[in-house]
Amino acid sequence: MTRRLLNLVTLLSLLLCVSVVVLWVKSYQRGRLAFWTRPRTEVQCGASRGELWLYWATEQSPPARRELGLHVESYSSAIDPRDWGYGPRVIPFLFDRAGFAWGSGRYATVPGRSANVLIVPCWAAALTTVLPSLFCPYRWRRERQRRARSDAGLCPQCGYDLRATPGRCPECGEGIPEI
Ligand SMILES: [Zn+2]
Repeated sequence: MTRRLLNLVTLLSLLLCVSVVVLWVKSYQRGRLAFWTRPRTEVQCGASRGELWLYWATEQSPPARRELGLHVESYSSAIDPRDWGYGPRVIPFLFDRAGFAWGSGRYATVPGRSANVLIVPCWAAALTTVLPSLFCPYRWRRERQRRARSDAGLCPQCGYDLRATPGRCPECGEGIPEI
């Protein structure tokens, strides 16, 4: 990977992580929902009470009145998504443990709708998004170190002096391409 790409991944991962943390903190004051609505399908992303969720549903017959497109709503109350129409009372839950939940099946209160929901704790989302930014600088430093060793006539892997033995490092066995 080039340095520029590593920097971009690091930056994106940090931005995402900061956004998740901001959303996480705010999710205890207000519930937030983003809707992406099509005639027969709807995708929703929400944040409330320290949890994020993704919900997607398909309808057999589209509802008569439906606001199509993408829009975001914010609610003055922050409640558990399970009590908010994304819970086991309306969607068959297959798993719900330690804040992680997965439900899939017929939506109980709307005939013809099948729905899926994935709930994850905000801390887990924040951790996942920060991982690339922790990993990329390490990769970049490693590659820079290997290049510097190569240029100095040393083994890029272990730093052994290769000026007497080009081709393969006698210390660690690393193959050195002839230039
Ligand atoms: Zn070596």
